Amino acid sequence: MPLKLLIDEMRKARRMVVLTGAGMSTESGLPDFRSSDGLWRKHRPETLATVEAMRERPLLFYEFYRYRLDLLAKAQPNAAHAALVELEKRGRIKRIITQNVDGFHSRAGSTDVAEIHGTLRHARCHDCGRQFSAKVLQKPVQSIDETPRCDCGGRIRPGVVLFGEPLPEKPFQRAVQAIEACDGMLIIGSSLQVYPAAALPEHAIKRGLRLWIINMAPTPFDHAAHVVVHAPAGEVLPQVAEALAHRL
Ligand code: ZN
Repeated sequence: MPLKLLIDEMRKARRMVVLTGAGMSTESGLPDFRSSDGLWRKHRPETLATVEAMRERPLLFYEFYRYRLDLLAKAQPNAAHAALVELEKRGRIKRIITQNVDGFHSRAGSTDVAEIHGTLRHARCHDCGRQFSAKVLQKPVQSIDETPRCDCGGRIRPGVVLFGEPLPEKPFQRAVQAIEACDGMLIIGSSLQVYPAAALPEHAIKRGLRLWIINMAPTPFDHAAHVVVHAPAGEVLPQVAEALAHRL
C-alpha cells in the first residue's frame, strides 16, 4: 500500500520540505481557465501572461487577471492545504515551496512558503517594484487610460512571474536552502516538467533526500522516488496528517 509506505517513511524523516504544483489546488474548485470560459478559449496563457501582452494588449491583459482574481476570491484552500498547515505546526515541515500563484498555502495558515512563481495576492510596479494590493487589479479597465499606474509612471502588474521572465531570486534561494536543511522532499500535484522548478527535486536527489510524490499522473521523477501515490492530494494528505499526529 503506497499510502502506508508514505506514512512510514514520513515518520522516519526528521524534517521535510514540500513542493506543490497545480494539482494541489484542483480540489479547491478553481475552474480551469483554459477550457471553462469561451472568452479565453481563443487565447493561450502563454500569449496572455506576458510582458508583451501587458504593453501591447493591456485591456485584454488586465481583463484576464481580473477574471483570475475573481475566480480566486470565490475559491477556498482545500483539505490538502489544511493538512500541510497541521504538519507545519507539528514541526514536520520546514518550508513549502510552491509553483502555485493562488496564495492558498498562506490563506490556509502555512507560515513558511516560498512562492517561486510569485503570487496573485499582490501586485507590483513593473518599473520600480513598489508593492500594491491586488485590489488595484480588480477594477474593470475600460480604456487604456484606466490601466493601473504607479506614481513613478510604471504599470502596476500582478506579482506573478510572466512567461519569459526569470524566476525571482529570493524565493528560489529559499527553496534551495530548505532542501539543504531537510532529509525528505514531498512533492504534491506537480508534473515536474517545467524548469527551473524541476531542478529542485534533482537537487534533493543529489543531496540524498528521500523523495515522495503524490500526483494523479506519472512524473519524470517517479523512478527516482521512494514512494509514489497516484491519488488526489485532498484524500491522501489528511490521512497522512492524521497518522502523523499519533505516535506509534
Ligand atoms: Zn513604480
